[in-house]
Amino acid sequence: MLTFSAKGKSQLGRILAIAVVAVLWLDPALGQAATHTVKRGETLGVIAKKYGLTASAIATHNGIANPNRVKVGQKLTIPAKTDTITYTIHKGDTLSTIAKKHKTTAAAIAKANGIKNPNTIQPGQKLKITIGTAKKTTKPGPAAIASLTLREINRPRIRRNRWKHIVIHHSADSNNSIRGMEHYHRRVRRMENGLAYHFVIGNGVKTSDGKIYVGDRWKRQIRGGHLASLALNEVAIGICLIGNFEKTLPTAKQRTSLKALVSHLRKRTGVPFSQVRTHRNINPKPTICPGRRFSLRNILST
Ligand SMILES: [Zn+2]
Repeated sequence: MLTFSAKGKSQLGRILAIAVVAVLWLDPALGQAATHTVKRGETLGVIAKKYGLTASAIATHNGIANPNRVKVGQKLTIPAKTDTITYTIHKGDTLSTIAKKHKTTAAAIAKANGIKNPNTIQPGQKLKITIGTAKKTTKPGPAAIASLTLREINRPRIRRNRWKHIVIHHSADSNNSIRGMEHYHRRVRRMENGLAYHFVIGNGVKTSDGKIYVGDRWKRQIRGGHLASLALNEVAIGICLIGNFEKTLPTAKQRTSLKALVSHLRKRTGVPFSQVRTHRNINPKPTICPGRRFSLRNILST
């Protein structure tokens, strides 16, 4: 526990006041431009990150032609996040590449500069750009799941404590189709409920990349057929990503969809994070599924 004497208190007050002033002065987010002296080992990228900006925005603002060449001790003016700068179009620039460099959108630049046709921009032309007006990218969550799919996922009523685990699989073959998997489980493996998983995430070969297919077993809220234990199948939601992750990595869209789906299902079912498992990690029998290149932790933590 910390205690302060009366004298200590007033001193603390002074320190706090100074700190507040310092923060107001230094924080470019508050609209105040700041000065930054380049320290040893700092690149424009590192400095930009510190201020929530891009290297290009700082380079442009300071008239630096080569962003790779900043000197130790050089003083840079750091634009406030919403500063408007003047950018001279280089050969090969498009409105969208310029926008990306300055964390804004092509539409915002076009509007601010009265550009009707983005294809008419010319090298040497000057643009007014307001930095950092782009909307933040959506976090994986329901927003990353197509609305029709979300409706399908949300349609069945879920009994309380119905599900205890969420288990991730790969299909072991990047050429799989939903129909092929359904056929294999129903006809070859003789599973009366067909497709063994509750969800399948496509990979862009015979299925749409990142698309979440809602299986019949989820719609009916019945047990899966994806684990070597009846008791586990009874309480484990099965998600299968099409692909062979012994050989390749899941696609970026598959990763985004998986993260969004897991997060949404956890909210709806109450399955704790610790019970999001891989097939290998929960199965009573040894299996390599979902492949050694698949890292659940990487996907869920990024
Ligand atoms: Zn599996």
